[in-house]
Amino acid sequence: MFALAADAPPAIRVPDGAQVELETADGFCDQIRHPDDRLAAVDWEQINPATGPVFVEDARPGDVLAVRVERIEVANQGVMAVSDDFGVLAERFRGTEVRLVPIVDGRARITDGVDVPVDPMIGVLGVAPAGAAVPTGTPGSHGGNMDTRLIAEGATVYLPVSAPGALLAVGDLHAAMGDGEICGTGVEVAGRVTLRVTVRRDLEIANPVVETPEVVATVASAPTLDEAATLATRDMADLLGARLGLTPTEATMLMSAAGDLRVSQVVDPLKTARFALPKDVLAQYGRALL
Ligand code: CA
Repeated sequence: MFALAADAPPAIRVPDGAQVELETADGFCDQIRHPDDRLAAVDWEQINPATGPVFVEDARPGDVLAVRVERIEVANQGVMAVSDDFGVLAERFRGTEVRLVPIVDGRARITDGVDVPVDPMIGVLGVAPAGAAVPTGTPGSHGGNMDTRLIAEGATVYLPVSAPGALLAVGDLHAAMGDGEICGTGVEVAGRVTLRVTVRRDLEIANPVVETPEVVATVASAPTLDEAATLATRDMADLLGARLGLTPTEATMLMSAAGDLRVSQVVDPLKTARFALPKDVLAQYGRALL
């Protein structure tokens, strides 16, 4: 599927609390598999696919869907691209250049003799948005193409539910990606994800929140990085007030002393920022933030 929408027909229905295993195509819809695959043959409408939607029984508008990432398995070959059409350095290129990236022994070979550690993450994870359909290549309050490195094995993503069943979709795995995703692709790779979906009725959030073993992070997307950064910061302050009872002064000082405002991606074409607080600091309040 290439859009998240409230009227998308469910691919499967699962009960609250179910474990879900999904196969995902890579960001190019698996169209580039061999060194002689021609770019001219690539259908650029078939980009950034997601698998789904998963209808989670009992999920209703106003709920929060908690999606725990239990496992990410990636294929043994990824693909990257640079282009004059996308990426921070687009003006340095003519046309589009694609390279296959072999993945061997937990390393992704970027060029001959140079590899980087494989650190699998999920680029697209979202539910149906509140309004009109949103392409799977776009991030927003519903999640979607957040390209946020924290969304890896062991993370839980909290998403505001806007449609009955939530209609979860997942795709766009990256074998590796740096913050920013500056060329417009990570090491795009096909694979399989194992998720656990749980409906929460005791949480109120307007935008995605990601919890890892180390941090809780609010995630926000907007036309500019400045706006996304402000939104993510506000969301964290609001969460600290609503869940831990912190005053604006307490929340702001805590966030300034111990929080990290980071860039997730700058190419989708909305920008995504996140505000992360360490869980060992939060634990001192004696109440659950999520
Ligand atoms: Ca992506």
